[in-house]
Amino acid sequence: MVEASSDMDNRFREEITETHEGETLNFCYQCSTCSGCCPVFRYNSKFNPRRIVENTLLGKRDRTVKSPDIWLCTVCHTCTEKCPQGVKVSEIIIELKNLSSKEGLFPAHLQEEAKALLEFGMVSPANKAILSRREKLGLPVIENAPPEEIRTLTSYTGFDKLIENRKAVEGEAPKKEAVEE
Ligand code: SF4
Ligand code: SF4
Repeated sequence: MVEASSDMDNRFREEITETHEGETLNFCYQCSTCSGCCPVFRYNSKFNPRRIVENTLLGKRDRTVKSPDIWLCTVCHTCTEKCPQGVKVSEIIIELKNLSSKEGLFPAHLQEEAKALLEFGMVSPANKAILSRREKLGLPVIENAPPEEIRTLTSYTGFDKLIENRKAVEGEAPKKEAVEE
């Protein structure tokens, strides 16, 4: 018998299957190959790709889109390469992250990286210590992408507005202060 749950959303499964590669969700037969090969699951059993796929199939929107766990996926694509049914697990998780982002549910560190991209043209600008070490080692100057071009693109796509509207993700660790080397 299918479990009855208050967080079931019949439209949710369609939202995912209508996306690029999303229809492969329907081919899952819950073999767990994706979890078995996932490098994140190996170290953190809270992150379980098979369970994410199952919850998406069952329309459990809140348990996927509102869970901070989906952000643990490193998008290494191992699950997608190994799935015997051709389910594009990593692409499906990207779509779940997209839905989550539209609700403002993305981690603080990603918001900071996105803001740095808009301001400096790179997600992780090098600090003075790194720059002087590179110089001593004879490494070339790091060229960043022109921030004004990035801001133009992100304003067309709405990405700049999206990153401003972040809500705290449930279970999120408190922000750590950056340490200057
Ligand atoms: S490997 Fe593929 S078929 Fe097996 S549980 Fe994962 S998504 Fe489903
Ligand atoms: S793409 Fe994500 S879910 Fe798939 S194996 Fe890599 S970390 Fe795990």
